[in-house]
Amino acid sequence: MKQNLTGKVAYVSGAAAGIGAAIARSFAAEGASVLLGDVQEARGEALAAQIRDQGGKAAFIHHDVADEPQWERALARAVAQFGGLDILVNNAGIEQTGLLADVELADINRLLAVNVAGVILGHKHAIRAMRPGGSAGKGGSIINLSSVAGLIGTPALGVYSASKGAVRLLSKAAAVECGRLGYGIRVNSIHPGLVDTDMGSKLVDDFVGLGVFADRETALRQMRETYPIGRTGIPGDIANAALFLASEQSSWITGTEIVVDGGMTIS
Ligand code: NAD
Repeated sequence: MKQNLTGKVAYVSGAAAGIGAAIARSFAAEGASVLLGDVQEARGEALAAQIRDQGGKAAFIHHDVADEPQWERALARAVAQFGGLDILVNNAGIEQTGLLADVELADINRLLAVNVAGVILGHKHAIRAMRPGGSAGKGGSIINLSSVAGLIGTPALGVYSASKGAVRLLSKAAAVECGRLGYGIRVNSIHPGLVDTDMGSKLVDDFVGLGVFADRETALRQMRETYPIGRTGIPGDIANAALFLASEQSSWITGTEIVVDGGMTIS
């Protein structure tokens, strides 16, 4: 099914690598103008240049999602450079493994600043721009990267799980608020299982380090076995779900959660 995003403007946070990079590529391939935000400047600039070389419309901005003035600057740039804002993907996130009995307050605060406050701030500034009378003013679609960790419990992922559970319910609250206020803004969450990215790879290493698995090979084999489809994810699996939620094909879908996990959470 073709998900045409021609004429749409998208902002993707954490777009320099992994899932965010795949989303930025696929949105641009479907005709959207994409502003990529990330704290990794060299990788982000290189990806935006690559998308442009392939005929897409893309630019990069340095943006730490935990910083509110940087949100204002990033979304204003999308509107100024590409003439609007139709899609926000709150993708930037960090992971943290460890037992709850050992957790440090500074680490909790940093994780929540990025994974929760960063996403809330994204809503604040995107809603202001997208709602009627805003600088973009045509409504839109907000897509939030939660996780299967926002749905089920996983040992040694307590703080991360708390953040992803928060993103799940934030998405529903935002969907109802924006719907009832007549903003024309839909809000949905995506819940990936293990995806092969820098974060996914670090998670596997962390589990081995914590003694959950004997070694990396065993970890990957045992994890694969928990996925009925027989494999873990690739960034493109998640980009396809984001593409659907960004497009008009999902125009009557808001406040829902799309679980993209090869069936892991239902087995
Ligand atoms: P990744 O670590 O591979 O890439 C994340 C990107 O976000 C990086 O480019 C990083 O520089 C950027 N980033 C980190 N902190 C930032 C900040 N403060 N401001 C702006 N950018 C920042 O991660 P990924 O696997 O691509 O994950 C993307 C999203 O999907 C995250 O929200 C993650 O929690 C979620 N997720 C990932 C998996 C997985 O297995 N990989 C599973 C479920 C959910």
